[in-house]
Amino acid sequence: MPAVPVPPGPAFPARLDSVFSARLGEVDCWLFDMDNTLYPARANLFAQIDRRMEAFVGRLLGLGRDEARVVQKRYFHEHGTTLRGLMLSHDVDPNDFLDYVHDIDMSVLDPDPRLAAALERLPGRRIVFTNGDLAYAERVLAALGIGDCFHAIHDVHAMRYHPKPDPRAYRGVCEAHGIAPERAFFVDDMAHNLKPAHALGMVTGWVNNGSERGDHGHSPDFIDHELHDLTDWLEELTR
Ligand SMILES: [Mg+2]
Repeated sequence: MPAVPVPPGPAFPARLDSVFSARLGEVDCWLFDMDNTLYPARANLFAQIDRRMEAFVGRLLGLGRDEARVVQKRYFHEHGTTLRGLMLSHDVDPNDFLDYVHDIDMSVLDPDPRLAAALERLPGRRIVFTNGDLAYAERVLAALGIGDCFHAIHDVHAMRYHPKPDPRAYRGVCEAHGIAPERAFFVDDMAHNLKPAHALGMVTGWVNNGSERGDHGHSPDFIDHELHDLTDWLEELTR
């Protein structure tokens, strides 16, 4: 997706600097993880995706469910993502894998008009930075009613299959969209995904909502803001 020129945003509320932090007032690009960040972790979309990944591996290798699960988890731990392991070990086409595992029921997601309104009030660009793929991201955002709130979606294809928390993913999103990291904010429910963002100079936000392994590697060293619900936090920020 081509870089988008920075649109003139609304003036930031004066209270931002006093209640939050001065650095947030200088942010001109807002980067959002998608899964379990833009919707509540209780929707548990990943449980559906997990079962589809298991089924994909079972079908590919002719394994039963339990054996397929062991192989899938091994790839996940050895290569960071199941997809990376399947690409390296079995030459799997990433599109085949992503289409299959993301063919899930979106009816568990509800439109979030409060989130849409709060996103629209943020000055500068808003970009979805997700380890999922574009087609899946568009379906999730549509189900949440926030598909028109973003200027770009930077997905796993754009990351050349080196997903977060690989530092290459963060440098890549900045290069692709002309983002100055020290004027960017990044929010994710996986604490360890914030570390490379902070190292680049971004302001970071951790959505502490109990998502699976969300607090793995958690450290105040690279977490500038801790929040529990993104919609509530953005409403407060942009009020
Ligand atoms: Mg997430």
